[in-house]
Amino acid sequence: MIDRVLAKVFGTQHERDIKKLLPRAERINALEPSVHALSDEELRGKTSELKARLAEKLDRVPEEEMKEARARALDDLLEEAFAVAREASVRALGMRPFDVQLIGGMVLHQGKISEMKTGEGKTLVATMPVYLNALTGRGVHVITVNDYLARRDADWMGKIYQFLGLTVGCIQNSLSDEERKRQYASDVTYGTNNEFGFDYLRDNMKFELESMVQRGHVYAIVDEVDSILIDEARTPLIISGPAEENIENYYKCNRIIPRLAKGEETKDKSGNKMTTGDYLVDEKSRTAVLTEEGVAKAEKLLGVKNLYELTNIDLLHGTEQALRAHALYRKDVDYMLKDGQVLIVDEFTGRVLPGRRWSDGLHQAVEAKEGVRIERENQTLATITLQNYFRLYEKLAGMTGTADTEAGEFHQIYKLDVVVIPTNMPMIRIDNQDVVYASEREKFDAVADEILSCRERGQPVLVGTVSIEKSERLSGLLKTRKVPHVVLNAKFHEKEAEIVAQAGKSGSVTIATNMAGRGTDIVLGGNPEAFAEHRRAETKSAEEFTALLGELRAEAAKDRDVVLAAGGLHILGTERHESRRVDNQLRGRSGRQGDPGSSRFFISLEDDLMRIFGSDRLQNIFRKLGMEEGVPIEHGMVSRAIERAQKQVEGRNFETRKHLLEYDDVMNRQREEIYGLRRDILKGRQTSSSITRSAGTCPRTRRSTSGTWPRSAWT
Ligand code: ADP
Ligand code: MG
Repeated sequence: MIDRVLAKVFGTQHERDIKKLLPRAERINALEPSVHALSDEELRGKTSELKARLAEKLDRVPEEEMKEARARALDDLLEEAFAVAREASVRALGMRPFDVQLIGGMVLHQGKISEMKTGEGKTLVATMPVYLNALTGRGVHVITVNDYLARRDADWMGKIYQFLGLTVGCIQNSLSDEERKRQYASDVTYGTNNEFGFDYLRDNMKFELESMVQRGHVYAIVDEVDSILIDEARTPLIISGPAEENIENYYKCNRIIPRLAKGEETKDKSGNKMTTGDYLVDEKSRTAVLTEEGVAKAEKLLGVKNLYELTNIDLLHGTEQALRAHALYRKDVDYMLKDGQVLIVDEFTGRVLPGRRWSDGLHQAVEAKEGVRIERENQTLATITLQNYFRLYEKLAGMTGTADTEAGEFHQIYKLDVVVIPTNMPMIRIDNQDVVYASEREKFDAVADEILSCRERGQPVLVGTVSIEKSERLSGLLKTRKVPHVVLNAKFHEKEAEIVAQAGKSGSVTIATNMAGRGTDIVLGGNPEAFAEHRRAETKSAEEFTALLGELRAEAAKDRDVVLAAGGLHILGTERHESRRVDNQLRGRSGRQGDPGSSRFFISLEDDLMRIFGSDRLQNIFRKLGMEEGVPIEHGMVSRAIERAQKQVEGRNFETRKHLLEYDDVMNRQREEIYGLRRDILKGRQTSSSITRSAGTCPRTRRSTSGTWPRSAWT
């Protein structure tokens, strides 16, 4: 029998996907009694049995048909493998995966994204497709958003894998190469996207095959897939080392710019393209190039014969960057000068971005233009976008609570389809309409009032902010009002996870930026297990610990009733985020597994999103509605206008990522070529002639990639 909720999914676009999987879930359920009857030993024995059957099916399959044959063979084993993994979960962790979790797991096996709400147990969902796919022995990767979660999930879910006789590894930032290699050799390896991506890049800088740590990219499940493949994907991974550049060159190139004349592209009488002046500026792509005349003039001014000779490549590049610095980058608009430093100004928010530098010599060119000291730069030794890293996998899958709004991008960039899985219990959280204030000050006052009223009722509140700065501002305000609270900034993952785990206790106030404490379950009434673990040191024996746990559990159960009576966890957004998806993530932390809960966003016309993307329209709406100081409005029209603004930002960010990717695609071809060649050489398969042949193409590739790395890349 299938759970009733599941049998009733109607009317969604995902209905068909899920319906197709229902019979398979039925079959897994039908296998349950027989698997349940096995001894622990026999259950473990299933792993070698399944492996043997898989091997038998693939025996004598020719190499070129292997990929498909393997996929088919694995799919044939799905029901049995899921039934075995489910039973192992019951025995090792005391959790029996729900039917919706089986469905979620099947979607992951198909190489798609399972959208499952927060608290639905995605960590456990992954174990079933992981187990199935690990039967090939080729290594399955599970990607988490931070090191702490990689450790937690590897330890927690590792109990299932180990129960079934599989090995589990976990990559942590602190590991040596040798240890990394051992972790990658495991059947299942947990780790963050950064670790996996950097290991790939580092492997391809190694001088011997044996020192490479990864052993291929077969199947990856990405947890919180939207954070990793969308939010993080705006900036590439870069390995850099100190550059051996000649700083003097930048001053030298800078000096000649005032003597060059800006020209334009025109057509002569017969329609042929021709140019005037010494250089051309393209505002749209933010580039500047020398014309033929410009090249000749620059050569004379710089005292070189041929700018395009390999030895002069730095001067050519320096001149082009100097041109951009002069023609396209404006002081107090694109950058500011402070204490002899060039600081980038964010074009959308107007805020200074301290510490960031434009790449590829542009920052140095601007420093030369302003006559300040040029900071020595690191040079990029290897780089890859997350998009191209994850495309290396034969099969990719993901899970998150919020994917559907970005389904288009997932499909277009990663060929990943999104399937929305129904919740195990009906969702009853109440999402209130936004309240809008004229000024930020009024807004924060209202936020503080609402926090206070929740506290008085004993209702826990999770307050979401868009930045650390805003968190601190609100914290200051609460301090003056003497409201106890904690602030999380997504800096200390482990400690913050501990705090977030208790954010469901009655009357607690937790202020957090978007990423803080992600992946940690907020249990109403607090999490007694975690709390007991925290106080383990106070106990002297196992009995004492059990007693403490019992005490804390009783306390938590009582507190849960208080929280339930107060309406469950209240989510309070202090600003709409740049995308609807991030708002939904915040909301999703309440109302898990059928719990009551509520959410509300507070907005002011001074918020970035309002100021930059919606102001004129909104101002009009507000005038019509008659906005006064201190009096908020709650109106569907406002929310719709905000959503439109968000869609605009989402579109812009998608463009940025697409642009970055188009860019990286060029480099990707080079990377694949060079890395492949490198590997072949290390394997001893290549002759010196192929090396010299390919070496000859290097300068060209270098030039084609210089200069126009998209602006987003400086983050
Ligand atoms: P998500 O990642 O989907 O937000 P988690 O994997 O963090 O959710 O799980 C949320 C909580 O639900 C965890 O405390 C986990 O122990 C519990 N859980 C998950 N699946 C089950 C299950 N089948 N039975 C009982 N508890 C479960
Ligand atoms: Mg999770």
